[in-house]
Amino acid sequence: MSDNTRIKRVDLKVGFQCNNHCLFCVQGRKRERTASKKIEEIKKFIRESAKSGKDEIVLTGGEPTLHPDFLKIVRFAKKNNFSNIQIQTNGRMFAYPDFCVQTIKAGANEFAPALHGSDSKTHDQLTGFEGSFGQTVQGIKNLRGLGQRVITNTVVTKLNYRQLPQIAELLVKLDVNQFQFAFVHITGQAAENKKIIVPRKKEALPYVKAALDIGMRARKMVMTEAIPYCLMSNYEECIAEKIIPGASVFDIEFTISDYDNYRKTIGKAKGPECRRCKKFDICEGPWKEYPEMFGWSEFRPIE
Ligand code: SF4
Repeated sequence: MSDNTRIKRVDLKVGFQCNNHCLFCVQGRKRERTASKKIEEIKKFIRESAKSGKDEIVLTGGEPTLHPDFLKIVRFAKKNNFSNIQIQTNGRMFAYPDFCVQTIKAGANEFAPALHGSDSKTHDQLTGFEGSFGQTVQGIKNLRGLGQRVITNTVVTKLNYRQLPQIAELLVKLDVNQFQFAFVHITGQAAENKKIIVPRKKEALPYVKAALDIGMRARKMVMTEAIPYCLMSNYEECIAEKIIPGASVFDIEFTISDYDNYRKTIGKAKGPECRRCKKFDICEGPWKEYPEMFGWSEFRPIE
């Protein structure tokens, strides 16, 4: 039984509508069958989460900025005294300076946009929307220009892994506060497109590490997700799972009260050799779908 009082963060999916169509979207086709949450239902979640001692909220989806009551939701989170209000976004709406100002005024104080390429060709191919790269980059510039904390996520795929060092250089130039490379999770759209978008981890790793080096040299906080210790020698400090805060997830179709526990016990897996590994107790292993596709040969126990 997990102790949920330690969980201070709530991850609230307000709806699955999105103006991108990412080839790796973990939410798959939910947007086709699910309407956005109504504002009253969202307010109830926020109120109850605040009452249960949650202090940080991540508004996500889908693309949360497209929810018709987005600003009201942010304001309501602020009113309920969440100290950290993060917007997990594709970043495109923040290309509009007025929208940035309104969102900050409403109470958001951390922004997590996603950048998947160092140029429009790569990023737009992955997001399925021509022009998305230009808008996301402009959004990051606007938010940083307004002094906001920006932490980006880049999904590592077969179509962009060779470009990770260039992406890191761009993120340093944009002066983001932190960036993360998350290995593609083979679920939702990513499962449908797995043959074209999932690389072998070993092939992507040299590029991931070169990109981390660029960030570290620029004194940025740099992280990776879903790449276990046995593939991260000399870069263990960058493993995000060590510091990801515990969270409750409010999806539209389900609720997970302890996502940390869910990720470790259901989402991820360890292989037949893992028991012999020195990191067994602290390692989460890869998302379980990866070894289902490629087997366990890349994951060698650390002696
Ligand atoms: S426990 Fe398994 S997946 Fe984790 S580092 Fe060790 S060998 Fe790799």
